[in-house]
Amino acid sequence: MHEDKKEELVKILMKEGITDKKVLNAFLKVDRHLFVPDIIKLHAYSNVALPIGHEQTISQPYTVAFMTQALELNGRNKILEIGTGSGFQAAILVQMGMKVFSIERQFEIHQKTQKLFDSLGIRAALIYGDGTLGWKEAAPYDRIIVTAGGPEVPKRLLKQLSVGGKMVIPVGNRVSQTMQIITKISEKEFSTKEVPNFKFVPLIGKEGWKSE
Ligand code: SAH
Repeated sequence: MHEDKKEELVKILMKEGITDKKVLNAFLKVDRHLFVPDIIKLHAYSNVALPIGHEQTISQPYTVAFMTQALELNGRNKILEIGTGSGFQAAILVQMGMKVFSIERQFEIHQKTQKLFDSLGIRAALIYGDGTLGWKEAAPYDRIIVTAGGPEVPKRLLKQLSVGGKMVIPVGNRVSQTMQIITKISEKEFSTKEVPNFKFVPLIGKEGWKSE
């Protein structure tokens, strides 16, 4: 369903610099219209962020594709996502064969997405809680993806990343953030690439912003 619209979107993603075939293929497979409220389904395949209620958004497709490509996935990676939201990013990762753990701090959103995943048969571990603390129980992770913007990189997340692993996280102020693409070289050594000009909803928690 919606094949034409998906192909159109994938063309736009390619024009914008997404080259990873596995990422583009996942966008052809995952039905984004199932992750947005009924009233805006018509816009589900436009390259824009959309509101999902509770003042939160489903990220722009380009941003999801950019972050997924930046993770440089190989094989079946264990991934921790902070900010489940609509579940679209997690669904893309599951579609690509990854083992996904995803944390959401708003209970209603967590529950709604859990129900959606149950009904679609998407297998991921959805966790309710403050993602800035990570999820020690399943650590370490090969990859960590943070889909809300914080003032700094949470130290606990760096700890829960495997050596050789990668983390992608927007860091900045509440209006605009720089994407940090971090590689953990050793327990104490990290290398970071930065790409400016992203706009996420705030990362709220112990190692994030203190309030809405
Ligand atoms: N990945 C999502 C993006 C959702 S927007 C998607 O594909 O739709 C970001 C989400 O992060 C919001 O739902 C917000 O409630 C959540 N969030 C913000 N701070 C958080 C935290 N500390 N832990 C977990 N989730 C958080």
